Amino acid sequence: AIPLVVAVSTSLAAKNGLLIRNRQAFERVKEVEAVVFDKTGTLTEGKFGVADVFTFSKNEDVLRIAASIEVNSEHPIARSIVEEAKKRGIELLKVEEFKAIPGKGVEAKVNGEFYRIVSPGYLKEAGIDVDIPEEAIKGKTVVYLVKDSKVIGAIALADKVKPESKEAIQKLKDMGIKCMMLTGDSRVVAEKVAEELGLDEFFAEVLPHEKAEIIKRLQEKFVVAMVGDGINDAPALAQADVGIAIGAGTDVAIETADIILVRSDPRDVVRIIELSKKTYRKML
Ligand code: ADP
Ligand code: MG
Repeated sequence: AIPLVVAVSTSLAAKNGLLIRNRQAFERVKEVEAVVFDKTGTLTEGKFGVADVFTFSKNEDVLRIAASIEVNSEHPIARSIVEEAKKRGIELLKVEEFKAIPGKGVEAKVNGEFYRIVSPGYLKEAGIDVDIPEEAIKGKTVVYLVKDSKVIGAIALADKVKPESKEAIQKLKDMGIKCMMLTGDSRVVAEKVAEELGLDEFFAEVLPHEKAEIIKRLQEKFVVAMVGDGINDAPALAQADVGIAIGAGTDVAIETADIILVRSDPRDVVRIIELSKKTYRKML
């Protein structure tokens, strides 16, 4: 039987948007020693604004091509690019053979030409050079439009840290819990967010399959909770001692998580830990 106090807490939690799918995880969350947050959409709003569009090749309509491809992707970066094109009244082109490159970008054919929209890490790996002055993009998320093996454009996007993130991190740190961040985004962007929030540690340019590996490594030292919202977060959520999906999230993240925080508020991580402590203290 479920102890009454646990049943009461569970339903009280649910009324406040904290859905407990796994009761053992709810008990375990009071012992968490490190919380690892995904960046985009978890600590940040995940709503990028297009700050700049760079064109390196004449006669290439960078935003039109990018938006035409990104309309097929659900990534927050993709949504922002499409939105910007709409705002500017740009009509989209027909796209063929669209494919996602997980954690790195997307690719497709437009007008018979092969394009990719990719991360800085992808360019580095592929040995493709690009010269955008660091000042022009300082601290922004940048994706590159590549045609064959040539960078023909770039889009700089800016996201904002959620106002609630700072308070959540501070409270967790006050409770003696280490706060960390995992992201596929560049080191520069990650560093800026980590500094702004006072995170203990961060891991940048992490590929989807590496997220779970990092959690596993941290588990050698800590009881670890992972908080994320994306498709790529599901393996890390599953690996963690407590997997927490936040916000609207993706179906995959929600199905994998032990606890779902319905509101997109990182302070709910603090609330669920406090509730777990109160609940299981009463039982002793
Ligand atoms: P995060 O950990 O921040 O959620 P992802 O693993 O989803 O990041 O993506 C990592 C990086 O891959 C992004 O910062 C971006 O550079 C690139 N990327 C992923 N999806 C797309 C896309 N649809 N269009 C352009 N770039 C993308
Ligand atoms: Mg993500």
